[in-house]
Amino acid sequence: MADIIDGKAVAEDVVSRVKSLAAELKAKNGVVPGLAVVIVGEDPASQVYVSSKGKKAKECGFHSVQHTLPAETTERDLLKLIDELNSDDAIHGILVQLPLPKHIDSGRIIQAISPEKDVDGFHFVNVGKLGTGELETAFVPCTPAGSMLLIERVRGKDLSGLNAVVVGRSNIVGKPMANLLLAANCTVTIAHSRTKDLPALCRTADILVAAVGRPEMIKGDWVNPGATVIDVGINRVPAPEKGEGKGKLVGDVAFDEAAKNAGAITPVPGGVGPMTIALLMANTVVSAYLRAGLARPT
Ligand code: NDP
Repeated sequence: MADIIDGKAVAEDVVSRVKSLAAELKAKNGVVPGLAVVIVGEDPASQVYVSSKGKKAKECGFHSVQHTLPAETTERDLLKLIDELNSDDAIHGILVQLPLPKHIDSGRIIQAISPEKDVDGFHFVNVGKLGTGELETAFVPCTPAGSMLLIERVRGKDLSGLNAVVVGRSNIVGKPMANLLLAANCTVTIAHSRTKDLPALCRTADILVAAVGRPEMIKGDWVNPGATVIDVGINRVPAPEKGEGKGKLVGDVAFDEAAKNAGAITPVPGGVGPMTIALLMANTVVSAYLRAGLARPT
């Protein structure tokens, strides 16, 4: 049976490191890291995410600001707010919760965030830095960055020569994940909906990352014996065994089957999920250090 990778515990380690970095920055330089989270509209899931980000930021000792704007906010007004946050010295990280209402061009909003405050790592400057291996100054998207930390816990930092297969090519997860694995010297293959014979490809992986959004699509016999399996997927499915109308969360990997073959595997929930928010805090404290002219903390 595989080792179960405890994302919650690793995320707690990251958060505790962030707390001590924030405390040190305040004591030595008088700087308090500031995170601004912007939400437009009343999507209940987005509201939950935003409030947990705000809570975590406070727990880390950050200055935490939330801007809640009505669904009918214009693109122009949102751009104006981003502009104000870009020039606010108390703010080191700006996060605009996606999805935005349809009348607002998300791409335009993301590109309006200063790359130095783009703690989500979605700005073209940060995408380009990651793509060219400029990891010293890049902000890397939080979910793949968190997944990478979990991989390092199992395999160490140098992944030289290992075969990595990333299933999914989104800009938020799949592509940045592949770039991180490449930077760590893996031989990387990115699979997607047009990939031929996905099971055979997955069986070549020493490291298999699933970021598809399809419940339990990756079966146990697709997993190479001993492989490290990182399941990014979060899918809500019906769970009649828990009662009528009840649901539960499952990943993109059929966990019970895959755990029989894998060397190590992340559960859902409790694997990659908690890492995302922890890495958001880490990116914010890094931004505050860089802004203060200090070296990037590790
Ligand atoms: P997207 O929908 O943007 O991308 C899904 C990718 O999977 C696409 O590249 C798509 O291929 C590929 N895909 C879809 N069907 C298949 C298939 N049958 N075979 C092979 N590839 C397929 O999703 P995201 O990257 O945003 O998210 C992926 C999952 O991760 C979701 O479950 C999401 O909820 C979860 N997630 C979890 C986070 C966390 O904090 N743990 C954060 C972000 C996401 P193509 O490009 O060809 O369409």
